[in-house]
Amino acid sequence: MAKKSRLSLAFKVLREEGWLAEMRLPCCQSCAWSSMPFEHERGPFKGQEVDLQKVIFMHGQSYAWYVRDYDANLHHGGNVKNLKRAVEILEDHGLEIFWNGRGDSSISAYDREAYELKLAASSSVTGN
Ligand SMILES: [Zn+2]
Repeated sequence: MAKKSRLSLAFKVLREEGWLAEMRLPCCQSCAWSSMPFEHERGPFKGQEVDLQKVIFMHGQSYAWYVRDYDANLHHGGNVKNLKRAVEILEDHGLEIFWNGRGDSSISAYDREAYELKLAASSSVTGN
């Protein structure tokens, strides 16, 4: 993933809207939540308190799945109204969203084009 992925570009926009949006927090959900910073460490809201209703992230395990499948399993703070806005931003960046609209369910954001490019690249290496 040399160039900026759709997901990282969407996360940048989310940070501009005051979200804590991180591609890779530690390990699993419980480790990620326990390591959540109290203040933004980057982006335009640096130094300000993190709103736990505007948190969206992958942890180490979901990041590994994302690198393999380009299907980002996004955890979040559970505020449905905020999450609908986050979904808009993700969709604006060309990601396919699978989500049941519930605050207690993770959001899947799939980068189909990146995955298909990856498949094409691997078949051109092995085939001829
Ligand atoms: Zn863990």
